[in-house]
Amino acid sequence: MLYSHVLVAIDLIDECRAVADHAKALAKALDAKLTLLHVVEPLAMAYGGDVPMDLSMLQQQQFEQARERMALFASEYGLPEDQLQIAFGHPRQEIHRVATDQQCDLIVVGSHGRHGLALLLGSTANDVLHGAPCDVIAVRLAKKKKA
Ligand code: AMP
Repeated sequence: MLYSHVLVAIDLIDECRAVADHAKALAKALDAKLTLLHVVEPLAMAYGGDVPMDLSMLQQQQFEQARERMALFASEYGLPEDQLQIAFGHPRQEIHRVATDQQCDLIVVGSHGRHGLALLLGSTANDVLHGAPCDVIAVRLAKKKKA
């Protein structure tokens, strides 16, 4: 079997559906198991750890929203609960950790194909590629047309 366990990392914004659909089709074609992963990022990390307020309620809401959206995917894709993962931390580290723990042999992420300054700022797809415990496929996401 070329790949037996596909891990798709989704950020739960609109375009993640294209990434998840691609991974689902791939897993089906390969007769592989599919696991969905979303990583909730610590709010303190997103705001540089410099926010003079308690973010725990907001963080809790993020988890609840993530659980709801993941449950929708699960019912739509017919996935059991153990094939849904919600992790907490830095996306690259958590994607690598879950891929290793779950013995995944392919990671699927979305890529915006950034150029110039945006590329210098980095992207999760680039991040995930470096030091990945298995092969990685970056699904190219269409650029939004300017109005
Ligand atoms: P970005 O470079 O942040 O635009 O993200 C590109 C891709 O990385 C997304 O399409 C997802 O596949 C993955 N990704 C980014 N953030 C997360 C997250 N919090 N949890 C899981 N996957 C993520």
